[in-house]
Amino acid sequence: MIVTALKRSLEQNILLKCQLLIEGCNIDNNITFPQGIHLQKTHLYSHSSQTFKETIPGDILFGEEENRVICRIRYNTASPFKIVSFDDNFFIQNEELELHIPITFIPEIKCGGENVQGHILSTVCTLLGDDLLGVIPSNYCFYFKDNKQCRFCEIFQTFQKEVEYQRPLKKIPIICEAISKALALEPRFKHLAVTTGNISSYDYTFEYMISIGKQLLEVLPYAPQQSLATLMPPDSPHLMEKLGQTIFNKVDFPIEVFEYSHFLTVCPGKGEFGYQKIIDGLVQAKEVFGVGNSYTNLVYGIQSLNSDLDPKSYDAQKENEKSLIAVESFLKLGIIPGFTLYHFGGYNQIGSIPLDSQKTFEFFKEWGEMVYLSKLVKQEEDSVLFSPLTLSNTLYNDTFRLAKQQAGV
Ligand code: SF4
Repeated sequence: MIVTALKRSLEQNILLKCQLLIEGCNIDNNITFPQGIHLQKTHLYSHSSQTFKETIPGDILFGEEENRVICRIRYNTASPFKIVSFDDNFFIQNEELELHIPITFIPEIKCGGENVQGHILSTVCTLLGDDLLGVIPSNYCFYFKDNKQCRFCEIFQTFQKEVEYQRPLKKIPIICEAISKALALEPRFKHLAVTTGNISSYDYTFEYMISIGKQLLEVLPYAPQQSLATLMPPDSPHLMEKLGQTIFNKVDFPIEVFEYSHFLTVCPGKGEFGYQKIIDGLVQAKEVFGVGNSYTNLVYGIQSLNSDLDPKSYDAQKENEKSLIAVESFLKLGIIPGFTLYHFGGYNQIGSIPLDSQKTFEFFKEWGEMVYLSKLVKQEEDSVLFSPLTLSNTLYNDTFRLAKQQAGV
């Protein structure tokens, strides 16, 4: 076995992460993972439609020091990448590419087994990446009731099949106690992300988030550095100010798709709410939360699909062109457009799209440069959101760091 000995650049590591997210990775059947590592938990959606013989680690780390990246394991037996172990050391291997790279895992959190009003803490909230506490108040979204859910969404189906907490909606005192205990007991938690589907109305969902944020302000042992609320904007604009007075210092209103007519096809429920209303909400959020704290999210991989959402209509070149137009437009408005990679866990209405790794990498690289040059993110920050070892399932923090590194900062 040849272990890749030369120090790999950040750019090489990001390209590998991109390949691993798109192609997934296989796992040697004889492997025994070490004790005390953080194992995969289903949070928002499924990361694989296949299951290994035992619970696998959530993420892997590879690269040295400033070039280290974190990457989600998407188990896929057909992938040319494979996790193997020799003498209690672990590697990502790709025989065709003669690649043998040492990997490590994220240590488990100490507080996962705590009792929260009769619930196990780790079923209410979870570690994401290396330092983020993630909570989903509601895995349900009222768009599903009328079949108006976003066509790529797998949140509700994943909940029905895989999530451990028994109800889609969690009670506020349970959420707040779980967050409070987790922050008190685990010093690794630096940031908080609360992400919810629509509950009974846009204003009700927003008020639900406000109540969580307000109670947290009263009970938390310390405020996380970054606290992000991800939901739809409210119908009543005055609620935005109220959210700004809580623990939350960042908001994300995902628009998912940039071109208006395509947005209506992919996101019929959001289409009824109104494309322009989401943009207006983002602009208002920038005023309330400050520059660099208003985010939207788009799904990379579906922007180029035709109106039938046929996976075969994905066009890598067009995907980049359309996505870059979106990036430029949002940056002009002072809004940061995050992108997640389209992924099919077996549940949504679009199906599998084999993304082009090289083109995907090129898009995110350009994204990093554009966002870095926009100066919407403070110069001292190494990430666009949270920290470099937080977001294991997308590439934008990594390519922002790359742009900064290449600018010699
Ligand atoms: S708004 Fe769309 S993506 Fe979000 S939970 Fe509802 S259906 Fe899913």
